[in-house]
Amino acid sequence: MSNLPSTMTGAILPGNSTVELRQFDVPVPGNGEVLIRVKSSTICGSDIRAIYREHLGKGPEGYQGVIAGHEPSGQIVRTGPGCRRFKDGDRVIVYHISGCGVCNDCRRGYMISCTSEKYRRAYGWQRDGGMADYLLAEEKDLVLLPDQLSYSDGAQVACGFGTVYEGLEKIGISGNDAVLVTGLGPVGLATAMLARAMGAPLIIGTDISASRLALAKDRGLCDHVFPSSPDNLAQVRALTGGNGVEKAVDCSANAQARLTCIQATRKWGKICFIGEGGTVSFQPSPDIIHDQKTIYGSWVTNIWRMEELVERLVRWNIRPETLITNRFPLDQVSEAYRLMAEGNCGKVAVVFDEELK
Ligand SMILES: [Zn+2]
Ligand SMILES: [Zn+2]
Repeated sequence: MSNLPSTMTGAILPGNSTVELRQFDVPVPGNGEVLIRVKSSTICGSDIRAIYREHLGKGPEGYQGVIAGHEPSGQIVRTGPGCRRFKDGDRVIVYHISGCGVCNDCRRGYMISCTSEKYRRAYGWQRDGGMADYLLAEEKDLVLLPDQLSYSDGAQVACGFGTVYEGLEKIGISGNDAVLVTGLGPVGLATAMLARAMGAPLIIGTDISASRLALAKDRGLCDHVFPSSPDNLAQVRALTGGNGVEKAVDCSANAQARLTCIQATRKWGKICFIGEGGTVSFQPSPDIIHDQKTIYGSWVTNIWRMEELVERLVRWNIRPETLITNRFPLDQVSEAYRLMAEGNCGKVAVVFDEELK
């Protein structure tokens, strides 16, 4: 067993758009737990929305002043007693919500919606997360990271790519589909990347940020990009024989963009809402009922689908880490959150050891 330090640095988010670095004891794994050397820990839009600027979250998004970061990937350096599958040296992704394990949602693998008030604790929200040198995790929350993927690929799967894959599986993407993606932040870019891998030959993206539009276009993730506007409906129809796309995914949470998703989807098409918060209004009869459309909501994913996704990423030969535009060491974590809050970037990661590049 490697010699580990007794203390470590971790980042706390006080809720005033700053980050505080503090010293903590390195945790000792108990029964069914492992200690992970964090290698990559990415920042999520939800961290900015519900914690960094102010502590807005309630319930599952209630931040308890713990070490931040719910998108961690790393290597097990100490395995507690009673672990059944994982061991020292394993490269792992942490599914970011630890559930009770025995409620109906947990038994479906959706720990995200665990109904136990006492035992449901999300990493980086109600229990210590990945913005630290080490992370204590429960073995049941781990997904094995294939050797072909980097830790930064893994961190991206922990929340964003897992969430996107779930939404795309719900609406089903194939080579038949033109896909509209509204909102080209990290989740929207991941949507375009996975939709392409699943066969979509035509991907159209919209966003308010010129730099994000450019990123999506330059990297070949979207075939066409448009600044968000009421013209988007006509623009999408013009590219799809006047019919609209077969599938649309909203990653923006913006009311106008959601309406565009609904209206720019053709008859019998499917729409998925992934972006959190906000509102939308539409006219049920002309907008969905008469055109036989279905709207899906999708929240995170289940743990078996996350295992399936890492296998598929290897098969498709795609690398989520290519969406990371900025990497920072832990001592520059303030800069990482500030950049992500500004929004003129792709994904932002705090990285360690071999991931520092
Ligand atoms: Zn996240
Ligand atoms: Zn549960």
